[in-house]
Amino acid sequence: MNKIRVQLAPHFYLDEFACKCCRGVFNLDGRLPKRAEELRAWLGKVYGVEIALEITSGTRCAKHHAAIYAAKGQEVIWQSRHLRGEAIDIKGHDLRGYTITWGDDLIDGARAFFMGIGIPESRKWLHVDLRDRRTTWHYPNE
Ligand SMILES: [Zn+2]
Ligand SMILES: [Zn+2]
Repeated sequence: MNKIRVQLAPHFYLDEFACKCCRGVFNLDGRLPKRAEELRAWLGKVYGVEIALEITSGTRCAKHHAAIYAAKGQEVIWQSRHLRGEAIDIKGHDLRGYTITWGDDLIDGARAFFMGIGIPESRKWLHVDLRDRRTTWHYPNE
């Protein structure tokens, strides 16, 4: 049986925002796919080729969220925007599968679409969220 996918923006479908453990979608904020689409379009302009954004973590149920922090050996942050449908972790790929590195210039550009930005040490992915105050932080060992 073919599953019907619900399209939220030209390049984003509802299931991409689902929790990775239970496939539930929790309180997804409608601005999230729209901003992700805008960021995707902007990245394409910067690179001059199409850059796809893979959502590596979207909305989360409480159980999965707690498991992520347990795996890191860290205290759970319960005010996370992932629990409120306002955050995604993203990876950018060109269509040959090359993963982009989020340098400072790209991160500055991403701030036009997302006020909350979490930067891992590897710079191979980015946390972005819809908080209304410009906030940046780092994930030292990721
Ligand atoms: Zn879940
Ligand atoms: Zn995140």
